[in-house]
Amino acid sequence: MNADDLKNIGLKATTPRLKILEILESSENHHLSAEDIYRELIIRNEEVGVATIYRVLTQFEQSGIVKKLNFEDRSVYEISKAEHHDHLICTKCGKIEEFNDETIENCQDKIAEKFGYKLTDHSLYLYGVCAVCN
Ligand SMILES: [Zn+2]
Ligand SMILES: [Zn+2]
Repeated sequence: MNADDLKNIGLKATTPRLKILEILESSENHHLSAEDIYRELIIRNEEVGVATIYRVLTQFEQSGIVKKLNFEDRSVYEISKAEHHDHLICTKCGKIEEFNDETIENCQDKIAEKFGYKLTDHSLYLYGVCAVCN
């Protein structure tokens, strides 16, 4: 994602927007809270207020380039991917794994169908303790 990509979705390529995008893209764990982004900006000597970060993230979310995941204890943001995936979250260290399981996906379709629904979207979060914390 660069300045042109932002323009293409109707967002001016401001410094905060570009910096936040860059952090989301370069981050090792791919799932960051607004506070994580704020801390990373401080490390990089960039002055962007928390309110601005939330505003930019909301704009990114509305334009579809970023997805917000609402976990039990926090919300994190990730760059939207074409491939659907679900999440496994460690309740001790916060580590997040991504997975895509065909059996689970099919089961969800069947449940929806049983109730006469056509599934358009879902969020599945599994909470547990990771191998390192266990
Ligand atoms: Zn852990
Ligand atoms: Zn993810």
